[in-house]
Amino acid sequence: DELISQIAAGEVVERPASVVRELVDNALDAGATQITLRLLAGGVRLIAVEDDGGGIPMEELPIALKRHATSKIRDLQELESVGTMGFRGEALAAINSIADMAISSRASGQSSAFLLDGRSGELKPVARSTGTTVEVKELFFSTPARRKFLKTDATELAHCVEAVRRHALARPDVGFAIWHEGKLVEQWRACPAPTSLDAISERLRDVLGDDFKDKSVAVDYLSSMRDDGGQAVRVWGRVGIPDAARARPDQQFAYVNGRFVRDKVITHAARSAYEDVLHGQRQPIYALYVEIDPTRVDVNVHPTKIEVRFRDSREVHQAVRRAVDAALAAPRA
Ligand code: ADP
Ligand code: MG
Repeated sequence: DELISQIAAGEVVERPASVVRELVDNALDAGATQITLRLLAGGVRLIAVEDDGGGIPMEELPIALKRHATSKIRDLQELESVGTMGFRGEALAAINSIADMAISSRASGQSSAFLLDGRSGELKPVARSTGTTVEVKELFFSTPARRKFLKTDATELAHCVEAVRRHALARPDVGFAIWHEGKLVEQWRACPAPTSLDAISERLRDVLGDDFKDKSVAVDYLSSMRDDGGQAVRVWGRVGIPDAARARPDQQFAYVNGRFVRDKVITHAARSAYEDVLHGQRQPIYALYVEIDPTRVDVNVHPTKIEVRFRDSREVHQAVRRAVDAALAAPRA
């Protein structure tokens, strides 16, 4: 089982940023409103993710580390419409097989907190407020071949920050802080705002800078109802306007039902819209949020869940292209 977990880890964990992504997913699934990361040596020596979510009851702590232990779905039916970031129950088991792991948690409504040592399985009482802290130390200590592939601490840190940035742009209602070697490197405060578009605009300003906020326009588009009466596709967010500062490919953020994705359909549709309106070769800049009936998208394509498969990619392509077209062509206020 240890071996299987290590093989799974190879698919899920490529570098410290992969661990960061999984742990932040879990914190969000637990309903956290504030997530704090502490890293040492670009995350190789330590990744600690602390949240104020619902916590894990003592009796469930050892189970959380077991392979295919997930508290999030109970059957295949639910997989069709999974609403949480995690559902495979692999991440913690995989990480535990390639690093020294400890989880301390206090479940909401409980008066005591416990720390589980991943290696020994020992459980002991600790003092803490409601929520969970997962500590991952000495990543790849047992697989030196993998460790060799890691880049400098600065590069690994940059990947970790990027992983949090992707989450931060999906969840402006949650505050994030990242510490590295005792120094605060990023902090994005929770933005309470009247609409999700306002909140995202605020968060985009925090994360990508004033420049993007000032040189972008709002997107808000709803496709017409499908012929079979099915739910329409909504595409919203912000896209950079023509005179936006030179865009880099790392300023393209696409989300499907709240999950960051790399998706050719969305990328292509956004690029086509830029070409429709701007007739140029410019790299689009955007943060686009696609909301679609969850039964029309498969998120269980790859263990990292960064790829999705749409049941009808034309439907999504058309919605994204029209949404961006309309936003770019609209007169600017
Ligand atoms: P998955 O997220 O796919 O369910 P994981 O291996 O990431 O699987 O986590 C296993 C289980 O541990 C989760 O289903 C959840 O019950 C629990 N868990 C992990 N992290 C947290 C957290 N930060 N807060 C509350 N529960 C957590
Ligand atoms: Mg998970």
